[in-house]
Amino acid sequence: MKFVDEFRDGDLARSIAKRIAAEARGERAYNLMEFCGGHTHALSRYGLTDLLPPNVNMIHGPGCPVCVLPIGRIDNAIELARRPGVILCTYADTMRVPASKGGSLMRSKARGLDIRMVYSATDALRLAQAHPDREVVFFAIGFETTTPPTAVIILEAQRLDLPNFSVFCNHVLTPPAIVSILGSPQVRDLGAVSIDGFIGPAHVSCVIGSQPYEHFAQQYARPVVIAGFEPLDVMQAVLMLVRQLNEGRAEVENEFSRAVTRWGNLKAKALMAEVFEPRRSFEWRGLGEVPCSAVRIKQRYARFDAERRYGIGYRSVPDNKACDCGAILRGLKKPRDCKLFGTVCTPDSPIGSCMVSSEGACAAWYAYGRFRDEPAAQNTA
Ligand code: SF4
Repeated sequence: MKFVDEFRDGDLARSIAKRIAAEARGERAYNLMEFCGGHTHALSRYGLTDLLPPNVNMIHGPGCPVCVLPIGRIDNAIELARRPGVILCTYADTMRVPASKGGSLMRSKARGLDIRMVYSATDALRLAQAHPDREVVFFAIGFETTTPPTAVIILEAQRLDLPNFSVFCNHVLTPPAIVSILGSPQVRDLGAVSIDGFIGPAHVSCVIGSQPYEHFAQQYARPVVIAGFEPLDVMQAVLMLVRQLNEGRAEVENEFSRAVTRWGNLKAKALMAEVFEPRRSFEWRGLGEVPCSAVRIKQRYARFDAERRYGIGYRSVPDNKACDCGAILRGLKKPRDCKLFGTVCTPDSPIGSCMVSSEGACAAWYAYGRFRDEPAAQNTA
């Protein structure tokens, strides 16, 4: 197949669904987590869960970079924007993530702080070049997909000897988060659902390749199928996972072979290794502190590290008690289980991070009306 509409063919999707139903016959349940928000979005947008047999349960994972950003990090960014002369810039979705005390970057901007939305990391660097009299801080977030561009601008800032540019680095890593969902006692204490297999991320895997999941699949005896974001990709990945489970296999398979290789993008990985090093620990919304799950800027580029330059210290802030984002990110609840879903909390007025980005489970359910099939009592409270 060459064109994107071929990956959205309804007849083919229904024929794969029949094969899944034939394979998943019997008593057992198949609890499959789609780690990535892009897959959650595809499941909701194309109604794929309606095609699956009742014993194949799709569990939404924490693979939405905006959703997993804890409140304390947004508070840190607002603190940076308050510094005299600072222009803080970041990607669009980050602007609306709730901070503590009902704040957000958007609200701080409305109150007069100079916070700007950028479309790319390069735009942030250009802003610093255009405003030599100001301090430009790039609030960098995201998984391994957005980390290489941040490495590039730090190297470019070094080459240009740019004195007024720094990065507040919040890049996180996928494999440790998957391990944490299954293996961490802290996550188990918070409550976690039993998961039989994973649909592995598409874009992240283009960068890191399929190899980093191999150890995990072996150690935890859980199959991983890396899949693209189109509906047929997801359906095919479900079929491959069900087959592996039926055959007692726990291997890494690559459905997205048109873009993902075993070793990934070597150039991008080399850039990340040049600029970043692992953090000992990083707080994720919903998962708590996850060891070695994020990166920070290496000492040799310390002058571009906003945390060092401004002496930013991290303080953990609990989520809004009424928001179930944490449980949703651990796969324990669905958006419809939250009392605020679609009433108090909507994309126009998000209470939690899962309603902010289109990749967030709550936003995907809201946008594609997944809650409308549910009993009314579950949608209002
Ligand atoms: S609906 Fe809103 S408040 Fe409820 S879990 Fe989702 S983001 Fe949080």
